[in-house]
Order: sequence, then C-alpha cells, then structure tokens
Amino acid sequence: MRSLTVLSGGIGGARFLQGLLHAIDTGALPGVAPDAVVTVVTNTADDLWVHGLKVCPDLDTVMYTLGDGIDPERGWGRRDETWSVREELAAYGVEPTWFGLGDRDVATHLVRTQMLEAGYPLSAVTAALCRRWLEPVHGERLRLLPMTDDRVETHVAVADADSPSGTRVVHFQEYWIRMRAEVPAETVVVVGLDAATPAPGVVEAITGADLVLVPPSNPVVSVGTILGVPGVREALVATGAPVVGLSPIVGGQHVRGMARQLLTAIGVEVSAAGVGLHYGARSQGGVLDGWLVDTGDAGDVAALEEAGLRAGAVPLMMTSPDATAAMVAAAVDLATR
Ligand code: GDP
Ligand code: CA
Repeated sequence: MRSLTVLSGGIGGARFLQGLLHAIDTGALPGVAPDAVVTVVTNTADDLWVHGLKVCPDLDTVMYTLGDGIDPERGWGRRDETWSVREELAAYGVEPTWFGLGDRDVATHLVRTQMLEAGYPLSAVTAALCRRWLEPVHGERLRLLPMTDDRVETHVAVADADSPSGTRVVHFQEYWIRMRAEVPAETVVVVGLDAATPAPGVVEAITGADLVLVPPSNPVVSVGTILGVPGVREALVATGAPVVGLSPIVGGQHVRGMARQLLTAIGVEVSAAGVGLHYGARSQGGVLDGWLVDTGDAGDVAALEEAGLRAGAVPLMMTSPDATAAMVAAAVDLATR
C-alpha cells in the first residue's frame, strides 16, 4: 500500500495520525510502503469567524500536532502560547470572550484570512500554511486537505426558556467551549453542507487510495460532516480500497469530547456497535468494510459481523504513539483479512 487516506476531526484524528505515521516509520504495518503517502481529509464544519479572523480548529489541530507545534497538554493551539491579544480584546469588552485566541495562533489566522480575502480557496491556503508546518517534518508524504472550500458550519439547537420558540441555535464552538456541552443538544444543523462540493483532491484521495481509515473522531461533527459533503459518501462507496474505522466510543463513553450529546441528538445509540452500525457496511449501503471496537466492547463484535462488517476488538485508548500505532496495525490487519 502506497497511498492511505484518513477522514479526520481535530484532537482524536490528530492523535490517530501521529500513531499512523509512527507505525509506518517503525515498519509496524505489513504491506504498507515505508514511503507511503498519507492524505488527511479534514473536517471544516467547526470553522468560525471570530474578531474578523477565519479560524479552522480541526485543520489547525492536525497541522500543529503533526508539525510539532501543538500544546501537548491542551491538545489544541500553540505550545508556549501567550494571551495578550485575548486580554486586550476583553479589556475592550468585545465578544466573544470564550474563544481561546492565543497570540501565536493569531498569526496563523491572520495569514489565512488575508489569503482568503485575496481570493485563494481554503485548500490553497491550507497548503501554504502546511509548507511551514508539515513539509519540514514530513516532506511530501503528508497532505492535509480541507473537506471543502465552501463555508460550512455546524450549529446546535439547545433549550432556552428565555427564547419565544423555547430553543436557541448556537455555533458548535459556542456549544462546546462556552456551554461545555452541558445542556442536551436538541438538533444538529450543518449549515451549507448540502450545497458544498469536495475540495480539490478529496474525491481522488478516496477513490485512488489503497486504504481508507476512519479514525476515532467524533461521528457526528467530524466524520459525519465529512461524509455529508455531497460526493464524499459516493467516493467511499466507489473506492476499490478497503475502508476501516475505529470506535470513538469505549465502554459506552466518549473518551474526551461530546460525542455522547451529539449521538443522542441524532438518535444513534452511544456504543461502539451503535456508531459502527450508523456508518454501516458497504455491502449494505453504508461506508465501512471493517470496524474495530475496544476490548471492553468485545461483546459488540457479533452484532457488527451480523450487519456485514468485519469486526475486531483491540485496546483503543490512544495513550501513546506506540499504543496508537498498535491500533493502526490492527486496522490494517482487519483491512487485509
Ligand atoms: P475534535 O475535533 O478535537 O473533537 O476531535 P475528533 O473529532 O477528531 O475526536 C474526538 C473524539 O475522539 C471524541 O469524541 C472521543 O470519542 C474520541 N477519542 C478521544 N481520545 C480517544 C482515545 O484515546 N481512544 C478512542 N477510541 N477515542 C478517543
Ligand atoms: Ca472538531
């Protein structure tokens, strides 16, 4: 295998990719060439405009993590960050104050916004930013693509007694960061998704891959939005490559994040099998050939196999690059079984 494609969200996807690259480097993936090219199709439905700047949280998390610029404790944003801009904005009393805009990070958003305003599509802007972050570390073997160049934004409806309709709609980032996903999500609306087109290279990355991996990213607001870009699902159905995913739900819980709230909002059971069956087997109109669950969820394997999926149970906690590399090896094994 020379060409691998990964459909990624932010933190979960980035950690998975670290393990994948580590596994390739250590020769832990039988059948995968040491110089295999990894293409990352990244969710952009978390993107937002804040203080006039275009911020792409998942693209930046992947770029900083794999470019060795991430703050390892937070898992997002820049290492050695300072917060003068945020403090100054707060002193002016301008909203939003809840979005963490670090000084170093602001430079990325300034470059991105300036290029977008000069007419470059997000995919070209992303490639330009990656020349600083990914090329020096990974050369040509790692490509980062936004799922689309079009504006797509996930919004969440929450109960609000003060609103005449009884609900209020907030940007996904506000739900997650300001509201800490503490109130139930009633519905999830991905504005602009139906009219979006895949960014250049996205469909080809899927149809031309030797293996497509779905990391343990959020199945609603990360992978779900990528699958919702018209043409992406069709590419997954059409590709000759095996498509294998790993569960973001371990023991009935999301590990970190808010997958539980959002799965509940879209009526999907919060379990490893629930998510696998939600994606579905390609043989049954879904997008997967194989689905890995955690060893603690081994009881889910039978139901997944019955639904036409190759399934297996291995430890799925991404506690270190070695542990994650072992997960990737199990996914490759499932793909070639
Ligand atoms: P985000 O965009 O930053 O929210 O990141 P992703 O969508 O890529 O991944 C978030 C999801 O990763 C969470 O909803 C968790 O369910 C899942 N997750 C995080 N850490 C782990 C882990 O160590 N193992 C597994 N199996 N899932 C994880
Ligand atoms: Ca995200």
